[in-house]
Amino acid sequence: MSKNPYRWLDESLTTIHRANWYRTVKTIDGFPGAVVSLDGQQVVNFASNDYLGLAGDARLIAAATEAIQAFGTGSTGSRLLSGHRQLHRDLESAIALLKQTDDAIAFSSGYLANIGTICAIVGQRDLILSDAYNHSSLKNGAILSGAKIIEYPHTDMEALQTQLQQHRSDYRRCLIVTDSVFSMDGDLCPLPDILDLAESFDCMALVDEAHATGVLGSNGAGCVEHFGCRGRQIIQMGTLSKAVASLGGYVAGSSALIDFLRNRAPSWIYTTALSPGDTAAALAAIKIIQTEPEQRQQLWQNINYLKQLLHQYQQTLPVLPSASPIICIQLPNPNTALQLSQYLATAGFFAPAIRPPTVPTSRIRISLMATHTKIHLESLIATLQNYEKRLN
Ligand SMILES: *Cc1c(COP(=O)(O)O)cnc(C)c1O
Repeated sequence: MSKNPYRWLDESLTTIHRANWYRTVKTIDGFPGAVVSLDGQQVVNFASNDYLGLAGDARLIAAATEAIQAFGTGSTGSRLLSGHRQLHRDLESAIALLKQTDDAIAFSSGYLANIGTICAIVGQRDLILSDAYNHSSLKNGAILSGAKIIEYPHTDMEALQTQLQQHRSDYRRCLIVTDSVFSMDGDLCPLPDILDLAESFDCMALVDEAHATGVLGSNGAGCVEHFGCRGRQIIQMGTLSKAVASLGGYVAGSSALIDFLRNRAPSWIYTTALSPGDTAAALAAIKIIQTEPEQRQQLWQNINYLKQLLHQYQQTLPVLPSASPIICIQLPNPNTALQLSQYLATAGFFAPAIRPPTVPTSRIRISLMATHTKIHLESLIATLQNYEKRLN
């Protein structure tokens, strides 16, 4: 009998199909923006992380093009070997300036930043306390580190305190990890409380600002700035791929932390440096975020306006608590979420259904951009109104 060690793949795929968990990609054509061409249809895009609309900004495009013309397309090596350029250092200085930290280090993605940082700073003798809704990169970084992991219920500070009281003293180092803006819900972590607990129990705290950088805080520095927690001892991590509209990730913090990561973070040491084009685009975006609050103000006007419009449907289409551009309409089950998403798609709105197992409860996830117009938001609401009428 001939054996096929790969046959399980087809069987697994069949199971995935049966459970309705099968995922496919959709093709976006042309320029990124508030309106895009999706599988050939013009849609208003409520699924982008490009919060400030910078991914199509002429200044970022010019910066990337100039960098490619001057330095080529690839960085040709890891930072510690042949890949390091002044451009990387300039980007790291700009991030440190935005975050008001001693220093910063740029990784090739946010995912790699989380994995490498967590693995570098904790190990088998240590404890990680992790919010149950944390991003996959925080969860997998924790697993890879070999530390003992305890999840606390989403944003539950009493539970976190109890866990610290019960377990902290059994471990050498302790790290509390949390998203600052939760990516599938849009709510914020209670950062000041987390930092108070970290201080009381001699713990490090890593906060993932992926969806907050460029969005929250009066200078766009993120939740740490929003909550007035600058100057406290925090490991601030983020991505260059959302509001920063490029590719890459970073960690900002004390000189000792950043110096240590340059020596010990495997996903920084053993991977190729960011490409010149990506680096230059990110640098241009950080400068725009710092000097031009207009896009951020426009984004917040859109957030407040949409929330106000959605308020009238609170009975039938309740909105999850949110303090960010991520606004979720809660639905009773995966099928109704898929139905509404499909209804919106037919009407020309791209807003995905997010279902278990990604999240505990089904929802439509709307992410707003500074470049959405009032008409985009009002027509989305009109379509929801029609959908709601069909329900009654
Ligand atoms: C997107 C995201 C990341 C990963 O960042 P990439 O640069 O896309 O790899 C990490 N954490 C959170 C919370 C995110 O939403």
